[in-house]
Amino acid sequence: MKEYDVIIVGAGPGGIFSAYELAKLAPELKIGVFEAGNALDKRKCPIDGVKVKSCVGCKPCSIMNGFGGAGAFSDGKYNITNQFGGTLFEYIGKNEAIELMRYVDEINLSHGGEGTKLYSTANTKIKKLCLENDLHLLDASVRHLGTDVNYIVLEQIYAELKDKVEFFFLAPVEKVEMTADGYEISVKGEKYRGKKCIISVGRSGSKWMETVCRDLEIPTKSNRVDIGVRVELPAEVFSHLTDELYESKIVYRTAKYGDLVRTFCMNPKGAVVNENTNGIVTVNGHSYEDPERQTENTNFALLVAKHFSEPFKDSNGYGESIARLSNMLGGGVIVQRFGDLITGHRSTQSRINEAFITPTLNATPGDLSLVMPKRILDGIIEMIYKLDKIAPGTANDDTLLYGVEVKFYNMEVEIDGNLETLHKGLFIIGDGSGITHSLSHASASGVHVARYIAGAG
Ligand SMILES: Cc1cc2nc3c(=O)[nH]c(=O)nc-3n(C[C@H](O)[C@H](O)[C@H](O)COP(=O)(O)OP(=O)(O)OC[C@H]3O[C@@H](n4cnc5c(N)ncnc54)[C@H](O)[C@@H]3O)c2cc1C
Repeated sequence: MKEYDVIIVGAGPGGIFSAYELAKLAPELKIGVFEAGNALDKRKCPIDGVKVKSCVGCKPCSIMNGFGGAGAFSDGKYNITNQFGGTLFEYIGKNEAIELMRYVDEINLSHGGEGTKLYSTANTKIKKLCLENDLHLLDASVRHLGTDVNYIVLEQIYAELKDKVEFFFLAPVEKVEMTADGYEISVKGEKYRGKKCIISVGRSGSKWMETVCRDLEIPTKSNRVDIGVRVELPAEVFSHLTDELYESKIVYRTAKYGDLVRTFCMNPKGAVVNENTNGIVTVNGHSYEDPERQTENTNFALLVAKHFSEPFKDSNGYGESIARLSNMLGGGVIVQRFGDLITGHRSTQSRINEAFITPTLNATPGDLSLVMPKRILDGIIEMIYKLDKIAPGTANDDTLLYGVEVKFYNMEVEIDGNLETLHKGLFIIGDGSGITHSLSHASASGVHVARYIAGAG
């Protein structure tokens, strides 16, 4: 049986940054990283828009699993802020959280990210424009690596780590058990032991995480899911915001129900893509830094936050059911013109073809009102009219809405300020812990734990 000082489960940003910092601060430690997906160069989604047009459910999914995690083909937006992207600051303090996010940014810059732009909301006039229209712009600095540069950064970090850390790919960890002096994991019939164990399995590992918490009696809570659509419109409509801020996180409280709706994951000149979480196809978006690969459209999500109270506990199950409904009606993601939604018509392929915008994702034309709960759809429509005030053209008939976009939140795991569970030496970090929901927060949580283990934190 192979023995390690530290076993890391998952090679997404959380796992990678804990390995990186441990290898740097404590090179004497023997570290094993176990990843359910492929090595970076073997990650290839078969959707090519020609032979394979939509998700065929590969196992493991190359978009969500493998070195780089769910972030590998993402837009590579590293938001340096405590205002969104997770609640890491509640565990480690606001200053440290920001300091760690800046540190992660430095590492990215020194591994191929140099020359990319850091945008900021500081002193922007857009904030006032938003306030005048009952909208609230959240504060952040955002480094946009772009999908292409993000990949280069991952390549360089892997090249640096591969001789210092032992990587196991296509190695899904099935079980984590406690031993007298650490943890034992089972992978495809083999067992490996570690004195310490860091679990960083992201959103794709959420179901597995639940079983680990159940087996090891780690308390959890879960009560939130965000449901909405991805909006796609001509890049010019949002260019005054995206040129200055790249991404703007704008929050609105609906007049009708008092629900919070927010913009999320803005991709100027980007593309809308499928996302497969545990077999359910939802929608997401990304964009390239390289102008040659950019499109004429900007996309972003509009999400309504749904919090549930007792006795209902399965908020993710609720989100999944809505996504399943869209998969059932559309065979995947549904697209509808805003004008069709407002006039109560199903969008058809001919109406989509006649529109003054070319969709970047091949989705099934349909009717989102047959899929989304009224309360959520009403909130999205209200928000689109509000955004039209600061970005005229948003409420155009041809604006495309792709549904559904769901942000599943992993159940929140009970951990302390070191991100350690009630079991000494067992750490749960990144999106799998339920306390981070972004590249920057997940990466920062990895550095935090590594510094603690190496005795420097
Ligand atoms: C298309 C897309 C675009 C995105 N764009 C952005 C963006 O621009 N900015 C941003 O901040 N966030 C973005 N996100 C979210 C971001 O990618 C995540 O917040 C981040 O990757 C979380 O990091 P993580 O390490 O916690 O988890 P993940 O990145 O999900 O990594 C977890 C890893 O663990 C592995 N794993 C799971 N279960 C097991 C197991 N049992 N055994 C072994 N390995 C396992 C998985 O294969 C995966 O590789 C995007 C996500 C997607 C899908």
